[in-house]
Amino acid sequence: MITYVEFAARTDAVRAQIAAACARAGRPADSVELLAVTKTHPVDAAVYAARYGLHGVGENRVQEAAAKRPVGPAGLRWELIGHLQSNKARLAVEFFDRIQSADSPKLLGLLDRAAGEQGKKRAVLLQINAGNDPAKFGAEPADASRLLEAALACAHLQVDGLMTIAPLSDDPDVATRTFVNLRTIRDDLAARFNTPLKELSMGMSGDLEAAILAGSTQVRVGTALFGARSAPPPAA
Ligand SMILES: *Cc1c(COP(=O)(O)O)cnc(C)c1O
Repeated sequence: MITYVEFAARTDAVRAQIAAACARAGRPADSVELLAVTKTHPVDAAVYAARYGLHGVGENRVQEAAAKRPVGPAGLRWELIGHLQSNKARLAVEFFDRIQSADSPKLLGLLDRAAGEQGKKRAVLLQINAGNDPAKFGAEPADASRLLEAALACAHLQVDGLMTIAPLSDDPDVATRTFVNLRTIRDDLAARFNTPLKELSMGMSGDLEAAILAGSTQVRVGTALFGARSAPPPAA
């Protein structure tokens, strides 16, 4: 684990990168939130994020967050950014403030029921496979409108917007195309369903500039803030 001083320097650099991309896009620098992705790191990563004044952390496994959050700093928003299995929906509603990986009507139904039973209204993002990547989770773009319709019918869920992960590629145009596609899907759905879908969670350490140029409102950054993860995160 890096030191807090190193984390602060890395965060300043990422913030400058975000501000530069916002300037290029003609957007205010505070129109993009930096979500600190703390997965695989000790709870200290969340402590650093809170101490620096970041508002949210992203985790990709329910059990990992369930272990860290109770011993972590107060006042942080915890967001699930990894694939969610049906049998963990209840736990996800318990330990996360927002679930970004809602990608099927069935999962939405389980989240809605769990939120109702826990007396909560849970925020969700709909994960769309906007890069048509066979290796990624997320609903197919053609199913996005059906997914939104299902989500809007859930009394205990609040749909904040959409999320995507760009395919791994050496060609930077692949990420750009993916992000522009998600933005287009959002604009279309927002108009057709007359709902804002304000949040566009897209962009990570390697492609956040392209995401911001395409309209990202939240970049999810791990490596650039905390350094390389020691092992690839296991599947959720
Ligand atoms: C791990 C992860 C990130 C952060 O990736 P970095 O390349 O380390 O910035 C962002 N989004 C999702 C969904 C992730 O699983």
